[in-house]
Amino acid sequence: MAAPKVLTSVAELRSFRKSTNTKVGMVPTMGALHAGHATLLRKIRPLCDLSIMTLFVNPLQFGPNEDLAKYPRTFEADLRIAQNENVDAVFAPEISQLYPPEYSTYVKENVLSQSMCGIFRPQFFGGVATQVLKLQNLVQPDLSLWGLKDAQQFLVISKMFKDLNLDTEALAIPTVRESDGLALSSRNTYLSPEERQKAPMIFQSLTRIKGELEKSSSLLPQSLLKEERQKLELSGFQVQYLDCRAVPNLEVAHSGIQPTKAYIVAIAAFLGQTRLIDNVVLHPEQWPEILY
Ligand code: AMP
Repeated sequence: MAAPKVLTSVAELRSFRKSTNTKVGMVPTMGALHAGHATLLRKIRPLCDLSIMTLFVNPLQFGPNEDLAKYPRTFEADLRIAQNENVDAVFAPEISQLYPPEYSTYVKENVLSQSMCGIFRPQFFGGVATQVLKLQNLVQPDLSLWGLKDAQQFLVISKMFKDLNLDTEALAIPTVRESDGLALSSRNTYLSPEERQKAPMIFQSLTRIKGELEKSSSLLPQSLLKEERQKLELSGFQVQYLDCRAVPNLEVAHSGIQPTKAYIVAIAAFLGQTRLIDNVVLHPEQWPEILY
């Protein structure tokens, strides 16, 4: 497999993009690639003629007390993974290329981004939306591929594409997990060995809730969510939210689960200093944007 072409400036990307008019697929990442990212790169390959991975730790989506400075950066290893997955080009710009000091334009989605992670990370979805719209304008992909690990992020991005009439397709792949159920994340490296052992409890709770809710459509999610939340808190997790919400608009599923709709059961919880997010999908067959 040939090494991907590495593009580090907006000018280089534009001239690369102008040299082709084939079907372009984009996989945006912040680097520190793991098997979840590799799966995205593998799955987009047969769907496009040219695959472009973007690699940029987006400062806009980090809050003032978050982990921007210590976010893992593993550029050489990332390039090897991209090469193994037959990626054509990697766009890895310097911050100054995208956000020069005079930068002043921001995108905000006002509904889906106001719940769950949006409450605890108020800058997050605006930062993501702004960055993704810039990447869309630069790369001009026909298709982009995302991970359901960040299901709320995928829904916010899809809504932005729809609201702003972008002529592009966005699909998402199921969350890639360790064998014990922990969702792969670049941030898992922050976990101590003891925390790493405990972390799969999150997926166990989500799986139990999914099982119960899919078994009986008359069951109300609220008491089940409360029970599992308490279990996790007794085991040392600081739970920010544990919600069951409908796809695609993220309404709270107060009155139970309808068989004709997809839902997510989603959580954010601190384990020590590390913030973990995860979710499971109920009735995934009702969510046409999932790519298996
Ligand atoms: P990030 O580098 O964390 O910004 O993630 C880049 C892309 O990889 C996003 O679309 C994520 O949703 C996706 N991703 C991250 N972790 C996983 C995972 N465990 N399984 C599937 N996709 C993932």
